[in-house]
Amino acid sequence: MAPKKTAKRAKPAKKATRKTAKRAPKKAAAKNVKYVYSFGKQTDGDATMRELLGGKGANLAEMAKIGLPVPPGFTITTDVCTYYYANGRTYPTTLQKEMEEAVAKMEKQMGTKFGATDGMPLLVAVRSGARDSMPGMMDTILNLGLNDASVEALTKATDNPRFAWDCYRRFIQMYGDVVLGVQKAEGEDVEPFEGVIEHYKHEVYGEDIIDSSLTAEDQQELVKRFKALVKERTGQGFPEDPWDQLRGAAGAVFGSWMNDRAIVYRQKYGIPSEWGTAVNVQAMVFGNTGETSGSGVAFTRNPANGANEFYGEFLVNAQGEDVVAGVRTPEPVAKLKDVMPKSYAELLKVRKKLEKHFRDVQDVEFTIQEGKLYMLQTRNGKRTAAAALKFAVDMVKEKLITWETAVLRNPADQLDQLLAPIFDTAEVKKAKVLSTGLPAGPGAAAGKIYFNAERAVDAAKKNEKVLLVRVETSPEDLRGMIAADGILTARGGVSSHAALVARQMGKVCVCGASALQINYDDKTLTVGKNVFHEGDFLSIDGTTGDVFAGKIETAPSEIIDGLINGKKTAQKTEKYESYMQLMEWCSKATRMDVRTNADTPEQTKNAIAFGASGIGLTRTEHMFFEGDRIDAMREMILADTLEDRQKALKKLLPYQRKDFAGIFRALKGLPATIRLLDPPLHEFLPHTKEQQMDLARTLDIKVEKIMQRVAELHEFNPMLGFRGCRLAICYPEIAEMQARAIFEAAAQVTKKGIPAKPEVMVPLVGFKKELDEQVAIIKRVAAEVEEKKGVKLDYTVGTMIEVPRGALTADQIAETAEFFSFGTNDLTQTTLGMSRDDTGSFLGAYQEKEILTANPFASIDQTGVGQLVKIAIEKGRATRPNIKLGICGEHGGDPASVKFCHNAGLSYVSCSPFRVPVARLAAAQAAILEKRAAKAAKKAAKKK
Ligand code: PEP
Ligand code: MG
Repeated sequence: MAPKKTAKRAKPAKKATRKTAKRAPKKAAAKNVKYVYSFGKQTDGDATMRELLGGKGANLAEMAKIGLPVPPGFTITTDVCTYYYANGRTYPTTLQKEMEEAVAKMEKQMGTKFGATDGMPLLVAVRSGARDSMPGMMDTILNLGLNDASVEALTKATDNPRFAWDCYRRFIQMYGDVVLGVQKAEGEDVEPFEGVIEHYKHEVYGEDIIDSSLTAEDQQELVKRFKALVKERTGQGFPEDPWDQLRGAAGAVFGSWMNDRAIVYRQKYGIPSEWGTAVNVQAMVFGNTGETSGSGVAFTRNPANGANEFYGEFLVNAQGEDVVAGVRTPEPVAKLKDVMPKSYAELLKVRKKLEKHFRDVQDVEFTIQEGKLYMLQTRNGKRTAAAALKFAVDMVKEKLITWETAVLRNPADQLDQLLAPIFDTAEVKKAKVLSTGLPAGPGAAAGKIYFNAERAVDAAKKNEKVLLVRVETSPEDLRGMIAADGILTARGGVSSHAALVARQMGKVCVCGASALQINYDDKTLTVGKNVFHEGDFLSIDGTTGDVFAGKIETAPSEIIDGLINGKKTAQKTEKYESYMQLMEWCSKATRMDVRTNADTPEQTKNAIAFGASGIGLTRTEHMFFEGDRIDAMREMILADTLEDRQKALKKLLPYQRKDFAGIFRALKGLPATIRLLDPPLHEFLPHTKEQQMDLARTLDIKVEKIMQRVAELHEFNPMLGFRGCRLAICYPEIAEMQARAIFEAAAQVTKKGIPAKPEVMVPLVGFKKELDEQVAIIKRVAAEVEEKKGVKLDYTVGTMIEVPRGALTADQIAETAEFFSFGTNDLTQTTLGMSRDDTGSFLGAYQEKEILTANPFASIDQTGVGQLVKIAIEKGRATRPNIKLGICGEHGGDPASVKFCHNAGLSYVSCSPFRVPVARLAAAQAAILEKRAAKAAKKAAKKK
């Protein structure tokens, strides 16, 4: 259901006419292609046909097939959308005939006639339906088929003039807005049709009465005024021919696929624009015929916390869009039991049947027309991560799904929500509750309040914590919602736009906090006597619905508390236990290991608690910044002679040895890939005059010397300059010191009975010879330490593959390297020729224009960088079949990249400690999907 308040749209789609359909190039429309699929008594499609029928169309067909009460209709396929854009917004020539046949079937089943001027007219709803649901993103038109003549027929047939004129008024309003583009102009505050209604109410009643109090005569007058408004704004009369109306509506749905909010949504969720949308045309049933009718939306289980309870809301005497528009506050669906017990009982049966059939939690729309229940839509319900986890674990217990399916049901990119902080309970007790709204998106958020999306985005860009506060949100607030940490609305229910979108994004959300009075002009929020201005702090709890004044400190989630802090009470919670169950299933399914990027024992311990199976990257340079070791490092850089450099390195050795020993101890025998020094040296030097003077005093040298060395080390492009293995090629003593520290630490820990498994890694290798030189040093030092300490070291030596030449010559490099670790941060930078630090100025434009579908530094560019990874794997294995392969760039914690790594055949991914759970889930999912695909291929081959 589309929210009533529609956002600014792209220009209305060019009106489709029979003529334009005929002009469509014949060659593009393949012969015998079926463009229209009916559902109802006779149903052509089913749930497997999402690509062609879109999610909504496929599920309507499925519901009809399993005998649920679905009003008849038809789906115009996504092929038509593709055709429409490929052929200058025109239609295949055969479409009109197919639509006429489908409408005839609907007429037969309903006993009504499209455009009837005598007897009951057939009215239809026209809705979009992409392959993946895009809630509230596309346009919907209801009550289509009405005109000046058929409204009279409807009045007569129903003996309900108020209802008939209400439908007609709504139709003109929706159609006028969506198809004819009668929308708010620049500087206009109110939607033009709403403006007419408001004006009329004041003129006749002297106040703003609720819509349902309007009489038939009022509605009739409004229809007249609406039509005049359409004429004034478009220069044309409102279309009277139902077929013109239908073609126009279909064109608008196809047109809305390219509107701004649909594009923003697709970018956020990685939905390709080529998919297109289907159009669903369905016989209208009416929830607005009186007190025995109503409309509602419901989830078969609670999508916020996962509880196994029927969850949703309904409104008596209302059409569907009223429920989500937030204008009237709906009743909880359980109350339907008191108002319409028979329909409620039937609805409960449908709930059960749907879950058993779809084996997933469903999000349904229903209408009750004079006591008769109709199902208008079903789709898999969007859910929070907490709900997804509970649904999955419960449904395995109920034997509705397998454990593998349960793993797939937890979106890896949402898992972070489970680890997100909650408010500190002690702090909450002290805080002042301003108001309590509906808990619509769980979690805790504190931030500065902003009343419009634009300013929220600007503030977030400045790294402020932001709460977007609106009376109610509409799709045009999407950018602000993405930028905000939390969303707070004064109106709207748990299925309002704000709630749906927030849950999907994993944003903390409280909606319908009706005590809030928001004044957009003054930029103030008033609650009782308290007045808050834009920029003031509020805190919201999306799990309880509480809104607090000020900033409340947050606390870790039960999972973090149980895993990392070892809190027993947290470990007894259902959330913790379910999470552990999920991770156990992940371990059962996965082929790839998940390691961590950690530089300290503390980080290592955290990662192991999350299930990491070792360290995939220790960036040794991070250790040089602590305490006074930076002075020794600077001394080393400033040294003029080998002797001086060695003197400084000798000071660094014990620090490094201590660090490595700590890490080995924390690992308790798990492997650690430790990388030798990588960044450009100038990063370690002081750059301000003050810092340089300080250093001069500490090292007892002249400040001029420091200034001179800083100038010498200046590079125009340091990331492509004197860094990586190039440092130790020029100063081998650096590699020597680091290798010694690693091996001495390993020997020390091994002697204490803890096995240590160092994997020494050389960075930025593009030439085999670079690696050879370093490996010779490392191996010599290892032999010396073994001899001196009397310990047999269990170590390997390998390299990072992070420049294209390294990937392309991986066969040569593998002659020396015992393992490769793909440094995809640098590999992306060097393959794309885009600085990893300087993409801010153009990345947005690249994503908007869909040159890049995702930030390539966050999610691996599979076609470009991915190809180099595959080449390196193939070449590396050709030389050394058992070479160990991993990834340690940021991509190691990105679900799509993890899937890529699994399919490419890597043995592990490595990511920051807190992303380990996400990577474990994504790795398990990739393994399950691969297994399923292999099974399906085997089955298909057998069939052949
Ligand atoms: C990489 O380049 O992917 C990598 C892990 O190394 P760093 O980010 O330290 O350059
Ligand atoms: Mg790198």
